[in-house]
Amino acid sequence: MDDNLSLDDVKESQPSSPATEEGSQADSKIDDRSDVDDKITLDAVASKVDREGNCYCGKERNLNIVELLCASCNRWFHESCIGYQLGKLVPFMMNYVFMCKNCSNTGLESFKKNPPGFPQICVTTIANLMQASIKNGDSRVKYSKDRDIIPFIEQHWEGLTTFPRRVKQSMHNSVMRALTKETNLSFTYDENSELYSLAQQDLTLIKPNYDAMIKQGQLKVTDMGVQHGKQGIKQGTGMAGRPRSTKRKLPDPGTVGSKKTRGGDVALPKLPAHGYPMEHPFNKDGYRYYLAEPDPHAPFRQEFDESSDWAGKPIPGWLYRTLIPSTVLLALHDRAPQLRVSEERLSVTGDKGYCMVRSTHSVSRGSWYFEITVKDMKDGSASRLGWAQEYANLQAPLGYDKFGYAWRSRYLLQFFLNYLRKNWKNLIFITGAHLTTLRVNFLHSLTNCRKGTRFHESRGKHYSDGYGEGDVLGFLIVLPEDPKLSYVPNTYKDKPLVKFKSHLYYEEKDRVSESLRRLQVLPGSKMVFFKNGVCQGDAFTDIYAGSYFPAISLHKNATVTINYGPRFKHPPPKDQFKYKGMYKKAEEAICEQTMADLLYLTENDGKLRLDTYCV
Ligand SMILES: [Zn+2]
Ligand SMILES: [Zn+2]
Repeated sequence: MDDNLSLDDVKESQPSSPATEEGSQADSKIDDRSDVDDKITLDAVASKVDREGNCYCGKERNLNIVELLCASCNRWFHESCIGYQLGKLVPFMMNYVFMCKNCSNTGLESFKKNPPGFPQICVTTIANLMQASIKNGDSRVKYSKDRDIIPFIEQHWEGLTTFPRRVKQSMHNSVMRALTKETNLSFTYDENSELYSLAQQDLTLIKPNYDAMIKQGQLKVTDMGVQHGKQGIKQGTGMAGRPRSTKRKLPDPGTVGSKKTRGGDVALPKLPAHGYPMEHPFNKDGYRYYLAEPDPHAPFRQEFDESSDWAGKPIPGWLYRTLIPSTVLLALHDRAPQLRVSEERLSVTGDKGYCMVRSTHSVSRGSWYFEITVKDMKDGSASRLGWAQEYANLQAPLGYDKFGYAWRSRYLLQFFLNYLRKNWKNLIFITGAHLTTLRVNFLHSLTNCRKGTRFHESRGKHYSDGYGEGDVLGFLIVLPEDPKLSYVPNTYKDKPLVKFKSHLYYEEKDRVSESLRRLQVLPGSKMVFFKNGVCQGDAFTDIYAGSYFPAISLHKNATVTINYGPRFKHPPPKDQFKYKGMYKKAEEAICEQTMADLLYLTENDGKLRLDTYCV
């Protein structure tokens, strides 16, 4: 590993936004031509920015591959840059609704293919024939219905449509009708040669008619941008009927829906799923899953899309990378499925037996802090809270195995009721003396029950007073940096990609026994817990080295809320403890992962080729 490659280098080596650069160049052009009519110049600048601000990658359009237009920001996106698994498509489609990551509420792309009309199918077909002919260098524009158009439709039926294949004659008739009906509208017909061409020949302008979809109610305009509508758009959106060329409203970056502020200071309306697919595989049964997205730094990405030999073959993992969430939250996939995680992914409610949820991010060096507030812990419910490594068993209490460290407390009423049950006879014949005894005994049992216990490897030891509803608990971990250890996160680029409901995940087999063998104590490491700002002392010292996730395990229907910062209710005093709020790990993790992925691509430079991958 190259020690000189620091995180800062990685940050600098990431491409800066071309849109920004163009913007500043455009500015200087305005200055140069200050004598020219302002309006014309500004329009030219606007269209320039529009044209060049495409996709996440900022690169030009590529008409040889499938590109989708975002219904909200009007930018074009390359298929290879889109994480959503689109299925079979062809370039120049008009029958879809696509929303890019930056515009969707969830931070994930959304895509829906609509049933196309035959005129649309014919436009898309002729456009593809034209582009293929441009590629071959002969730039043909006129095409025969029987020799060109129908064979293309037959060959690309699944990509073009959403219908099952039709009998040949019925398809011929539909194409014929579409071409005739739309002649002089969408198509031009040359009677001598009996050839059709597109009335509008600029292929870059072929796109879905989002304005019509808004009018028909397929799309809905809200203050958060354009969204998929169910039915019947309501008036008052102020958008229906706007002229086609009007630029749609972009969601204001820095407010709702923006990645930077998600989970931040603004009072957010309820958003679904916080950037994680609602339907997803769970880590279990010896397998773990990592949501993947296209890697903009991987070689041959657009070549992969341009090649047609890939249908049905596995996608090379190195074309993708692990998606690092931009906010630290409770993980949806890395939990026992029976735990109920709230929509904003900061609260969790237990079910029956003990089971666990981990956070999205882990720490392996330095000092880190988070808080948990106990919201509800009645009826014999209980919680074990603390830090867990990735292999701590999700279907067990935290601290059950060697991979977790927990702080436990139970609800008191259970003990009180047990006590009353055992002593009910005394209650019936209460005398002064009895009452005193009862009180003393009860108070005694209360103090006993209020013990907070620390758990590791299923061994509980007395640690502190107990905790209960309303208590704010602080969890501090101290992991000294060990020069012998590597802190480069895993890149899963050599792992197989599996598809689950339109998203790709790296699939990794558990290496639990190997991890158990490798466990080593990290000298100087420790965990310190706090109750309502009061330090309860060292809970664990010299713990195992490794990556630790904030973790919650619950018994019965207890509910707790986690706070990763930055605003803690009881931050430990900075003069006694040096630490970072857990929320800070999000940004750090993105830098670390970028570095790990770049290292992988560099180390395997030359080996990652499409032609040798799949033989
Ligand atoms: Zn792109
Ligand atoms: Zn967009």
